Amino acid sequence: MLHLMPRSVSYVIAVVCGGTGIAMLLKRRGPNLWLGVRLPWTFADRQIWDKSWRLASIFLTGMGLWALLYWRLFFVALTHFIVLGILYPIFLYWRRYGTLRYWKEGGCLGYHPVARCRQCRHLQELPEAAAWATARCESCQHPFCQE
Ligand SMILES: [Zn+2]
Repeated sequence: MLHLMPRSVSYVIAVVCGGTGIAMLLKRRGPNLWLGVRLPWTFADRQIWDKSWRLASIFLTGMGLWALLYWRLFFVALTHFIVLGILYPIFLYWRRYGTLRYWKEGGCLGYHPVARCRQCRHLQELPEAAAWATARCESCQHPFCQE
């Protein structure tokens, strides 16, 4: 059935996906409500937002190409895009903070990270992602950043 897809449809999808992907590759935006991988974990950490943005832009560009060249791979790429687009920021967040918790304050974008102490398992709200590099556990004074 897929090979009966009218050519015009693949052109439209190629332009929409490829155009968005290339635009995202050329100009990166900060957290916003309309474009990007919009999850609490990306809103809470600008570096994770940026990395997810990059992954999404590469996938979208690839999907634009596959829509023109080979439909079947377009759907494979679409599935990967959705699954990895969500799992990748979750993985990055978990690796850094040791938890998937976050806290919320302010408007729609006002998400902030929570970090788990690797020594005593204490959960601590951080004012912002940048604080993670220097913050210490309130309970045992162990630094969150091990690097
Ligand atoms: Zn601790």
